[in-house]
Amino acid sequence: MNVYKFGGASVKDADGVKNLFKIINTQKENLIIVVSAMGKMTDALEVLCNAYFHKTGDTASAFLHIKDFHQNIINDLFGTSADEVSRLTDNLYCELQNIIDSDPSLSYDYEYDRIICFGELLSTTIISAYMERQGRKAKFIDIRKCLITDQNYRNACVNLEFSSQLCRKTFSFQDTFIYITQGFIAGTTTNQTTTLGREGSDYTAALLANLLDAESVTIWKDVPGIMNADPKLYKDTEIISKMSYKEAIELSNCGAKVIHPKTIKPLQNKGIPLYVRSFLYPESQGSVIRELDERLNLPPIFIDKGNQLLLTLSPRDFSFIAEEKLSHIFAILAKYRLRLNLMQTSAITFSFCIDLNEAIFDRFINELQNEYEVLYNKNVRLLTIRHYNEDIITKLTSDKNILVEQRSRLTARFVVADEKK
Ligand code: ASP
Ligand code: MG
Repeated sequence: MNVYKFGGASVKDADGVKNLFKIINTQKENLIIVVSAMGKMTDALEVLCNAYFHKTGDTASAFLHIKDFHQNIINDLFGTSADEVSRLTDNLYCELQNIIDSDPSLSYDYEYDRIICFGELLSTTIISAYMERQGRKAKFIDIRKCLITDQNYRNACVNLEFSSQLCRKTFSFQDTFIYITQGFIAGTTTNQTTTLGREGSDYTAALLANLLDAESVTIWKDVPGIMNADPKLYKDTEIISKMSYKEAIELSNCGAKVIHPKTIKPLQNKGIPLYVRSFLYPESQGSVIRELDERLNLPPIFIDKGNQLLLTLSPRDFSFIAEEKLSHIFAILAKYRLRLNLMQTSAITFSFCIDLNEAIFDRFINELQNEYEVLYNKNVRLLTIRHYNEDIITKLTSDKNILVEQRSRLTARFVVADEKK
């Protein structure tokens, strides 16, 4: 059995859905298809959720945008015989309307998950209807009933033992050889919807592969495979045809967007290979991540993470930055769900880089300022070069203003500000 994962970009319009169908239609073996929300629909649902919960906008127009987007795809796919699938999507819209017609609870995260899940529910409903229309029916599974998590809404933790039993029962391959289900979303034992963190569909595919002992996972992307730099930002990039799990974990942890950081571990634990292939050129091989000799010669790999916030804290009481201070800072980071992308200490300062989040910026800085002198740079970038050499460092950083620099044996990292004038 294999798992195929299709992200939002691969199903952003009717042509994308037709292309997905072409790819799966050549498959003869047992298959689970994991799909994300179409195009940018998760962002659109976030807008709706904020309008509903924080009263920051018009829920009606946000909702209409979501409906129109999906209806256009349905029209393109089904033409005049769209009634049946429209009935199914109308049921989902009704459920969503009921949520936004009632007053929100006190928990933003809880409301977020029960609204955001509609992106994946709509995409899988439309795609499965299209497959059936084309004569290749896939069994539709609501993943919330078999991927069971705790109640840590928006970043839920999967109960592997419980989910394993349920998934094995659900994906039995007895009456079908092809299933379609949602990435990113899951459920609790009391039937509440949870999610696994933004961009979490890769992780869903890896979890299912692990729990069901799949032969492989393939992530279908808009890039030809794993590249040594983002081809949308840099010229002369090259494909890395194979890479070890360990290297892939390091890269995704440094901010490489090609795979979600949590994806590798469930696959590595069971030695399941992960293929990254282009949905635009499905005939080409792409890349594979699997158990490999670490010394495999890799070219320099470059990750450019924008929209960063660099902070430098020094305690107001002039105490040295010691363990107690650090654990206090880490507790504040955990409270705001901020992840450190890079850190550096000196005797009396602690500097670190996180993703810039304007929504919480003021509250976060105020809380730090109670105990620390806070200096910050907004909108800096974090550059990582794995397998670096001096030439490549010069080439990539010589026109930049370097604020922080760190080097280890394999990795060089730079926090950089505006280009030098
Ligand atoms: N649709 C979700 C998101 O955009 C999950 C995913 O795409 O992996 O975050
Ligand atoms: Mg998505």
